[in-house]
Amino acid sequence: MALANRSAAPLEPWKDPAAQPFLRIEGITKTFGKLYACDDISLDVYRGEFFALLGGSGSGKSTLLRILAGLETPDRGRVLIDGVDVTALPPYQRPVNMMFQSYALFPHMSVAQNIAFGLKQDGMGAGEIKDRVQQMLELVQMPQLGARKPAQLSGGQRQRVALARALAKQPKLLLLDEPLGALDKRLRERTQFELVNIQERVGTTFVMVTHDQEEAMTMSSRIAVMDAGRIVQVSTPAALYEYPSTRFVAEFIGGIN
Ligand code: ADP
Ligand code: MG
Repeated sequence: MALANRSAAPLEPWKDPAAQPFLRIEGITKTFGKLYACDDISLDVYRGEFFALLGGSGSGKSTLLRILAGLETPDRGRVLIDGVDVTALPPYQRPVNMMFQSYALFPHMSVAQNIAFGLKQDGMGAGEIKDRVQQMLELVQMPQLGARKPAQLSGGQRQRVALARALAKQPKLLLLDEPLGALDKRLRERTQFELVNIQERVGTTFVMVTHDQEEAMTMSSRIAVMDAGRIVQVSTPAALYEYPSTRFVAEFIGGIN
């Protein structure tokens, strides 16, 4: 996999009026009965960003992520990825992969087999699969551990295998729903750092859902704060902290959540 040359990309593309967004969300609305889970959400994400959707429980983060993945159909609005309208496409036709909090690896398969699983389904040849699996193991800094079973790994290692599996198909966009939610606090902090490091090396655009403001602040290029199905503010972590646009954001970022 070609590793991105970060220095070639503008550091803050959202400040460049000529920059084309990589992911464009236009007026996405999703209701469940009378509830507006997503209420007219529009958002641009640029190539190579580590973007966070931050909000309390029930604010609509997972619903928005599922709409991006094609697992949920919006009532209104469009999703464009790399200039292509994917709104009507099924999940498997989108250049997208998703990683969940409960990242269930197949327990009877080795680490390498877990990573290879989706590639086999796509009909990739055995030699190419072997190379790709090794490349992924190196990416997550576990080059020697392909033969292990998930039960023989630490929680942090299992999380990295799940990431390797999600990245193996080389999606253009990786969606992560509370990816570190299953880890204890100490491990979570270390894994935050590792995840950012891997994202920087692989250069894939990440959109991560979290309810943890500190996690969003530490990991992401920009943050969209969500409340009741709406985006309240989109900023860099520093700007969000220094210039919260509403009292809600100030209190949420201040840690009252
Ligand atoms: P978050 O991920 O921010 O916690 P969700 O996107 O999961 O929030 O949910 C947003 C709102 O939509 C919540 O009130 C939730 O109960 C509701 N909701 C989500 N999925 C469904 C569903 N399939 N059926 C009915 N209500 C749903
Ligand atoms: Mg959720």
